Amino acid sequence: MHNQHYDLIAIGGGSGGLAVVEQAARLGRKVAVIEARRIGGTCVNNGCVPKKVMWYAAQLAHAVDSASDFGVPARRTSTDWRKLVTGRDEYISNINDYWNNHVEENGIDHLTGHARFVDAKTIEVNGNHYSADHIVVATGGQPIVPSVAGAELGITSDGFFALREQPQRVAIVGGGYIAVELGGVLNALGSSVTVIAMEDRLMERFDPMISAVLESEMQRQGIRVQTGFQVAALARQTDGLAVASADDKRLSGFDSVIWAVGRSPNTHNLNLQAAGIEVMASGIIPVDDYQNTNVSGIYAVGDITGRVALTPVAIAAGRRLAERLFNKQSDSKVDYANIPSVVFSHPPIGTVGMTETEARERHDDEVTVYASEFTPMRDALSAHGSVTAMKLVCAGQEQRVVGIHVIGDNADEMLQGFAVAVKMGATKADFDSTIAIHPSSAEELVTMKTAVLEEASSVNADHDVEWLEAG
Ligand SMILES: Cc1cc2nc3c(=O)[nH]c(=O)nc-3n(C[C@H](O)[C@H](O)[C@H](O)COP(=O)(O)OP(=O)(O)OC[C@H]3O[C@@H](n4cnc5c(N)ncnc54)[C@H](O)[C@@H]3O)c2cc1C
Repeated sequence: MHNQHYDLIAIGGGSGGLAVVEQAARLGRKVAVIEARRIGGTCVNNGCVPKKVMWYAAQLAHAVDSASDFGVPARRTSTDWRKLVTGRDEYISNINDYWNNHVEENGIDHLTGHARFVDAKTIEVNGNHYSADHIVVATGGQPIVPSVAGAELGITSDGFFALREQPQRVAIVGGGYIAVELGGVLNALGSSVTVIAMEDRLMERFDPMISAVLESEMQRQGIRVQTGFQVAALARQTDGLAVASADDKRLSGFDSVIWAVGRSPNTHNLNLQAAGIEVMASGIIPVDDYQNTNVSGIYAVGDITGRVALTPVAIAAGRRLAERLFNKQSDSKVDYANIPSVVFSHPPIGTVGMTETEARERHDDEVTVYASEFTPMRDALSAHGSVTAMKLVCAGQEQRVVGIHVIGDNADEMLQGFAVAVKMGATKADFDSTIAIHPSSAEELVTMKTAVLEEASSVNADHDVEWLEAG
C-alpha cells in the first residue's frame, strides 16, 4: 500500500479541482489531483465545450439560412452529424492532452481512479492511501434521471454528447438552460424538437421578459414548446417514444427523449462520513464564504457546493482558496454578487444582477426600469427577422444599474464588459454618458431613454406595457 503525503489533494479533475491544484503548485506546494474519468471534468468533456461547438454549428446553419436575404447564394441539406461530432471530440481530446501535459509539467501528481475518504486526512484510490494537510472536494455533479416509469428510455445531456447519429424527432424534458440550449441546437441542425417544461415558463429564474421572448423566438423557429407539463412516464410505442403527464396528457412519436431536469451532486461514493463531513440530503456539501466545510482542513468548491454552478465560479473558488491557504491572502474568497451568465440559446441570453422582480422586492418602489425591443440589423434584410430585447433595472434615486438582461444576437459577447460596470456600481447616468458603438445592438444599452412604469414581462410589440418618456 502506497503512502504519499501532500500539501493539498483535490478530488475531481474538473474546473474547480484543476484550478486549486494549479494555483497551489504555482505557489510551490506539493499537490495531487484525483480524477476518476477524463481530465477537464464536465465543462470540457460533457458541458460548456462540446455544447458551444454544437452551438457554433447551429449559428452557422442559421447564417446559411439567412445568407440569401443578403444576396449571398447558400443552401443547406442535412447536417453531417458524424463530421460535426468527430471534429468536436478531436477538439476535446486536444484539451484533455493539454491538461494532461500541463499537470505533468507543473509537477502536479495526477492519480487516476475513484477517490474515497479513509479519514479526515487520508484518501484511498485503487487500494492506495494518500494523505494531505488540505483536501478539496471538487467532484461536481451528474445529470438527474427522474424516477418515473420508463425513465431509462430517455438519455441525458451526457447521452446527447455521445450520439453518433442525429435524432430526427426529439423531446427535451426540462425548462432550464440545458434544455433550451440543446433544443436550439437540434432544431437549427434539422431535427424536429419539442421542449417539455414542468414550469409555466422557460428559464423561470430569469427575468420574465427573457422567458417571453425566448419562448416566442423558439416557436418562430419551429420548436414546439409545451409548458406546465410534468412528465410522469415514458413508453415505447409503434411510432416511437411517448411521454405522458400525471394528468394524462400525451405527446408521442419521438426517436429520442432527453432528460434535462437538473443535476445532482457527486457525493454518494466518497465515504464522506469517514471524515465527518456534513452533507445535505440533496448531496450538496455546505461551505462558508471561504469554501470551508464543517471539518477543518477539508474544503469544497464548484457545483458540489450548490452555489452558482458555472465553470468560472468553480475556477475562481479553487484559485482563491489556494491563495488563501498558501499565499497569505487571508480574505481571498469569491464574491457571489453580480455573476454574469450566458445561455447559449438561439438567440443567446446574457444576464447580470437582479431581475426586475427581485429589484422591486429589495428596493420597493425605488426601481426604474428601461426596456427596449427591436429587430437587430443582422436580420434587417430577412423576412424572418428575430427579436432582440433588453432591460436595464436601476435602483435608488441615483439609478444604480443593478440588473441587465439581454436576449438577442450577440448577447453572449455583450455582457462581459457591462458586468464590470455593474460590479463597479455604475449608474444610468454613467451608461448615458458613454458614447455608443454604432451600428451595433449593444449601443442600445447606453442609449435607452424610456422608463417602463409597470413590471414588464415582455416589451412586446402589442404595447401592453405603459411607457413614460424620461425627459
Ligand atoms: C450540458 C452542460 C453545459 C454547460 N455549459 C456551461 C457553460 O456554457 N458555461 C459554464 O460556465 N458552465 C457550464 N456548465 C456547468 C459547468 O460544466 C460546471 O459548473 C463545472 O464543470 C463545475 O466544475 P466542478 O469542478 O465543480 O465539477 P466538474 O467539472 O463536474 O468536475 C468534477 C470531476 O470530478 C470527478 N469525480 C467525481 N467523483 C469522483 C471521485 N469520487 N473520485 C475521483 N473523481 C471524481 C468527475 O469525473 C469530474 O471529472 C455546463 C454543464 C453542463 C452539464
